[in-house]
Amino acid sequence: MSAASAKTIIIGAGITGLSAAYFLKKPYALLEADKQAGGLCRSFYNNGFTFDVSGHFIHIKDEKIKNLVNALTGGLDEIERKAAIFLHGRFIPYPFQANLYYLDEKTKKECINGILKRENSDISTSMPFAQWCRAMFGRGITKYFMEPYNKKLWSYDLNKMTALWSGAFVPKPDSQEILKSAYEKNRNKYGYNSVFYYPKTKGCQALIDGLLKKVEVQTDCKIVEIDLKNKTVTTRDGQKLSFKRIISTQPLTQLIKQIKNVPQDVKQAAQKLICNSVRCINIGVKSKYGVPKILKNTHWLYMPESKFPFYRVGLYSNVNKSLAPEGCYSFYVECSAMSPSPFELSAQKAERYLRKAGFIRDCDEIAALNAADIAHAYVIFDNNMQRCLGVINGFLNKNNIFSIGRYGAWEYSFIEKNIKDAKSLAKKINDGEIK
Ligand SMILES: Cc1cc2nc3c(=O)[nH]c(=O)nc-3n(C[C@H](O)[C@H](O)[C@H](O)COP(=O)(O)OP(=O)(O)OC[C@H]3O[C@@H](n4cnc5c(N)ncnc54)[C@H](O)[C@@H]3O)c2cc1C
Repeated sequence: MSAASAKTIIIGAGITGLSAAYFLKKPYALLEADKQAGGLCRSFYNNGFTFDVSGHFIHIKDEKIKNLVNALTGGLDEIERKAAIFLHGRFIPYPFQANLYYLDEKTKKECINGILKRENSDISTSMPFAQWCRAMFGRGITKYFMEPYNKKLWSYDLNKMTALWSGAFVPKPDSQEILKSAYEKNRNKYGYNSVFYYPKTKGCQALIDGLLKKVEVQTDCKIVEIDLKNKTVTTRDGQKLSFKRIISTQPLTQLIKQIKNVPQDVKQAAQKLICNSVRCINIGVKSKYGVPKILKNTHWLYMPESKFPFYRVGLYSNVNKSLAPEGCYSFYVECSAMSPSPFELSAQKAERYLRKAGFIRDCDEIAALNAADIAHAYVIFDNNMQRCLGVINGFLNKNNIFSIGRYGAWEYSFIEKNIKDAKSLAKKINDGEIK
């Protein structure tokens, strides 16, 4: 299908746009701004290492989606999560709030007291996040993990954002379980990713490559303007394409800026949407001794202490050996920033911090080091967000534009949800429910 005669224009060939094209049974033109498709689910290769744009581990509940991803990637490994919180030099199994047993006595006591003296308020996810944490988990757990970790993850005032995103992402053991976990080791599994999947070879890119065999994409083709009156989109190089409907997976704020003559209320609503940025630093290490013993059983670590200017460190090579050459191991390190503030961390600094923490031995050699900045990373759930999304989507849908995906829908989502949402939108188009 030539782009000029397509009725559905899909903007962006990340996992959402590629999935939409895969499920659509009607002509489409899938247009990608970058030279390569894949968006945040791409992997790249450096000196024998395979790096994702930070660890992209796949968690899937829906059997049909799992079978599809399995077939597209050429096979998935099923992996039991080994994640911990690195605090005061100790490794506390994730989630913190269900594993108080592993804390030093002073910290444990504060966490227990916090639970016993919890503010007895009605708990609602529309509360400010910091208040919600204290109400859910008490002051101790909030002080040692919830607050410092989330401050680093979001780079935003936790009193100005809500807990509306916490549903799938914050495990919520009840008080009895939390207290019990202070006295005995907890063997229960928590969270959406206690088991996750990862392609047997080629990193997350295997999923993108699988889809690229099934769909057609025009890369290096950025949409810069959308004209609703004449039903055309204009590309960076001046091509005009007509459309009947648009599926947009680019950031919602950017989409609104491209549309000509946007109503004032929609423009203002889009201006109120906020997100942070993340820098992902990838490090490949060559060593005679393999990965340091303290990290042997770790896929990733949460880093709440302020002395580390990053919130998470993961080990690709512990998730899948093929991601690092023989005798090597590999990391990703993530830090966030809120524009216009710059990132505090460079790749070289990250290496030094990992050496200081004992995660890289003094004698081990750096074989690959790079950084990728993600401009739109985590959308901020403040009090404006839901109302603004209502205003914007009302306007877009009336004009046959459907904005989906993590940044299109302006949500905290992940690969499985992106594929499911693309599938369900494609079905509505296939069935004629969307004209
Ligand atoms: C730090 C981090 C870690 C994550 N880890 C995981 C994980 O472990 N597991 C998981 O399931 N999910 C994870 N996610 C979420 C996952 O990355 C996203 O859910 C998913 O990649 C979103 O895909 P998308 O296609 O919606 O958006 P994107 O991947 O952003 O794709 C959008 C595409 O649109 C293109 N585009 C933008 N503007 C235009 C334009 N004007 N014209 C044409 N093309 C355009 C972009 O170049 C891009 O290719 C993580 C996210 C972050 C930030």
